[in-house]
Parts: sequence; C-alpha cells; structure tokens
Amino acid sequence: MTTTMELDYYEVLGVSRSASQDEIKKAYRKLAMKFHPDRNPGDKEAEEKFKQFTEAYEVLNDSNKRQIYDTYGHEGLKSRGYSGPDFEDIFSSFGDIFGDIFGFGRAETRRSKHGPVRGADLRYDLSISFMEAVHGVAKNIEIERPDTCWTCEGTGLRPGHKPVTCTTCQGRGQVVRAQGFFRMSTTCPHCRGEGEIIKDPCSDCDGAGLIKSKKKVALKIPAGVDTGAKMRLRGNGEGGRRGGPAGDLYVIIHVEPHEFFQREGDLIYCQYPLSFDQAALGCTLEVPTIHGTKDFKIPKATQTGTRFTLENEGVPHLRGNSRGDMIVEVKIKTPQKLTKRQKELLKEFGELESKKGKDSEEGLLKKLLHLGRKSE
Ligand SMILES: [Zn+2]
Ligand SMILES: [Zn+2]
Repeated sequence: MTTTMELDYYEVLGVSRSASQDEIKKAYRKLAMKFHPDRNPGDKEAEEKFKQFTEAYEVLNDSNKRQIYDTYGHEGLKSRGYSGPDFEDIFSSFGDIFGDIFGFGRAETRRSKHGPVRGADLRYDLSISFMEAVHGVAKNIEIERPDTCWTCEGTGLRPGHKPVTCTTCQGRGQVVRAQGFFRMSTTCPHCRGEGEIIKDPCSDCDGAGLIKSKKKVALKIPAGVDTGAKMRLRGNGEGGRRGGPAGDLYVIIHVEPHEFFQREGDLIYCQYPLSFDQAALGCTLEVPTIHGTKDFKIPKATQTGTRFTLENEGVPHLRGNSRGDMIVEVKIKTPQKLTKRQKELLKEFGELESKKGKDSEEGLLKKLLHLGRKSE
C-alpha cells in the first residue's frame, strides 16, 4: 500500500489531468477487463496492477477526492482521513464499481435487459479428513464452471456485430397477454426477456456469452474448521456477462469422522479402555491426542466413566492462538478370556474383597431389603 500511495493516479489510469469523468470510467473499465484476477489466475503482477488502478479510480471518480488530490496530492488525502481502499475488501466492491461504471446499482443489474449481468454464485462441497480440519490444510481443487467468454467479452455476439431488437416484444422483454379482463405480462419467450436477439452469435460460446472452463483454485483451509464452514472465494463463481462481474464460489466444508476422536466445537472427546488392574492401582497412560501423545496419570481407584480433562489438547481456535481441551473418559474393560491362573487369582481376590467389605455391605443390603418390603 505504501508503494501505491506514491503513484500518480492519472498515470496509473493512463489519462490526462484534464480527463472527463467519462474518460476515467472508460479507462478504468478497459484496465479492469484486462487485469481482472479472474482473467489472470495466479498472476501477482496483474493483481497488484488491478489494486493500483482501482485505488486510482476510486479517487479520481469521486469529484471531492479528485479535487483534494489535484490540489494537495497524496498527503492531502491522508490528512483528510482517506487512506486508500481496504484491499481485503476490494473484490467485494468490484461488482459495485462495475455497476457504477455502467450506471447501474448491483441490485438492478439482474433486471437490466441489455446491461451487465453478474455471474451466479456457485457451490462446491469439499470433504476433508478429521485431522485436516483440526490442523488446517492446503488443497487444490479443480472447478468446472461457466466462465465469461472472452472472445465476445460475454456479450454472445460475434465481434463486430450488433444484436437486433426482438420483434416479438419490440425490445421490451415482456409480452402482454389479454385474458378476459386480465392483462398479464410475461417474459418474452422469443428472446427470454433480453429484448434482443443475437443473429450473429460468437462462434466460441454459440451466443451464450459463457463457456465451460476448468480452473484450479488453491484453498488454504485454516486450522479449526468444522463441518458446515463456508469459504467464500470472490469472483470464482460463474462468469459475468456483458461486462458484469463474476459471481462468488462458496466452498462448503464437510469433515469426515475419526475412528477414535469425536469433536464438539473445539473440544475433543475420546473413550479410553482401562483394564481392571490399571483402574484399581492407578497408572500412567500414554494417551493419543490430536497433537501427538500425552502422558497422563490415572489415580488409583478410578471408576469407569470417570472423565479427565487434558487442557489445551483440543482443537485450535479459528481465530487466535488458543486451543480447546480434550476430555478422556475411561471405560473399564471386563476381561473376556482368562487363563486358569488368572481365574484363581480373581477368585481369591473376590473372596478377600467380600470378607473385607462384609460389614458395610451387609448393612447396606439390609437397608435395601427393608425399603423393598415397605413399598410392597
Ligand atoms: Zn422478445
Ligand atoms: Zn463468446
């Protein structure tokens, strides 16, 4: 931005200092057509140029700003709080800039019969693995979408030819049908509401103004995304027609489940099987986490279903550097296959256990039986 601030706006747009508003608009439109990022995928220089002349255009197209710039230069704009457009946002305002050039607001472009038409927004569903979602991932996707036919610049016309007025609707795009008392206005079936018929269609797109084209898009999926996350890629949707801007591409993220971990927002949950002796005596576990492994001490006499929290072992937050926690729920497994020796030991253990607990358990049992009788 510091570099663009020092550029001469008139030079950037290639117009004279006395250029009229119209000349400025025309110059900008020409440059925008040539350097639009959509036409120059991956070309950083084109993108930089696009930003520069857009900034120049935003100043020179505004008579107030232009006057300040003419009189006081860049410093004058800065001191009045104008620091150049927000480049993060520049592609979102692209449609409006075009609308402005053609004298249409964005909302009106759809209705206009001969004016620019913004391309439709498109959707792309992308499945990523659990770990990719947790840690973030770079993906290259290939999309096939209708893109502006650049032979005819989206007009559908063979270069050098003009459309002819539709004779069915006399160019209105609507036909009126009378039915008794009612007069109904419907879209002209002949020109489909365009008001014009293309007699000499562009041979590349057969008059559609759009052609199917494949495009590779590099996606940087941030750590911490979850199913349903939407990424908006401006200008990567359907191409515009007649100078309209392209629509946007929405990438919808779907995260595949994991066999061991479950996720609830930034919380990771897992069940960990514990043997009876580990639970009774306590132990140190090497617990797998989404970030690796973590040694964790299980205290003695741990009951099944006990939940332990491992702080900061959860999912990274989409914004910021912190992480969620991980919950480990231990499940005590009853052994299924026992050797003879193990059976003996367990029996012996049981006998010792019942002797030890007789007094307190008998008391509890009596109470329960008593309660049972009462309710009969
Ligand atoms: Zn018509
Ligand atoms: Zn074409």
